[in-house]
Amino acid sequence: AKDALTETVCFYEVSMDEAARSRRLIANDLWQAVDRKELQLHYQVQKAVHSGETIGYEVLLRWHHPSRGTIPPSEFIPIAEECGAILPIGEWVLREACREAATWGNEQKIAVNLSPVQLANADVADLVHRVLLETGLSPRRLELEITESTIIGDKERALATLRRIKAFGVTIAIDDFGTGYSSLETLRAFPFDKIKLDRSFMSEVEASPEAKAIIRAILALGHTLRVPVLAEGVETRSQLDILLDEGCDEAQGYFLGRPVPVGHIRPAMEKTAAA
Ligand code: C2E
Ligand code: CA
Ligand code: CA
Ligand code: CA
Repeated sequence: AKDALTETVCFYEVSMDEAARSRRLIANDLWQAVDRKELQLHYQVQKAVHSGETIGYEVLLRWHHPSRGTIPPSEFIPIAEECGAILPIGEWVLREACREAATWGNEQKIAVNLSPVQLANADVADLVHRVLLETGLSPRRLELEITESTIIGDKERALATLRRIKAFGVTIAIDDFGTGYSSLETLRAFPFDKIKLDRSFMSEVEASPEAKAIIRAILALGHTLRVPVLAEGVETRSQLDILLDEGCDEAQGYFLGRPVPVGHIRPAMEKTAAA
């Protein structure tokens, strides 16, 4: 039994080492990913629940690593944040997304995820301003999605930055709402334009009366504050029906559309531009 334990411990240490080594390798490659054109944006539609109308698209980053294949953002974003590569990568995402949306010839929005590291370390308000000028995208068509962890650092500074960005006409959505630990405080203190309800509530809404009650409460909260609520992770018709019943404003999820490369949504753009 003792041997088995020693073996387990050794294996554990080796795999920790392996994980650290792999993180270092990934960090190394990440710095070059933009230059090597290994990054790609996918677009996932966001729709109004009642009318079914397309409000806009969230851009989601994909990394096609030359030897490791496609690495999911849940794996490389934390590493990019730790090593600082999120700054050039985040800038690339913002510029690409704005440049793309500026060609659409409609009023649809583009929602870009903003990392806590971007909000804390870079002068992101200047960056947003510059990119809007460069691309000619109307500021009201840009939405930045931030999570509560984004503002756990220096709150005063984050707040000042968000106010500057909002002054351009850009809107701010609070992402993954309901999963943090200071949701209500954050909501009170920060100038949000949209609440994105975390997808964990959707996955349980049919089985759990509690999840449904929480969704209802957050919808009431959002509506009292006059802030629209978007439900994430809608995977079925019946989930969408529940949202319709409950008066949820917007929805996003596999049932409405998976994240896809831009080529898949351009034809829809041509139609809306012509209409
Ligand atoms: P997120 O911002 O909460 O993005 C939504 C995630 O849910 C995406 O995962 C999306 O593909 C997935 N999703 C959408 N609909 C459904 C559904 O119906 N069911 C399920 N099960 N999942 C759904 P993805 O693309 O793997 O991204 C994961 C996270 O990585 C994002 O979570 C975001 O936090 C981060 N991320 C992605 N792109 C960027 C980026 O450009 N910058 C930054 N800073 N973070 C990003
Ligand atoms: Ca998001
Ligand atoms: Ca989210
Ligand atoms: Ca998330």
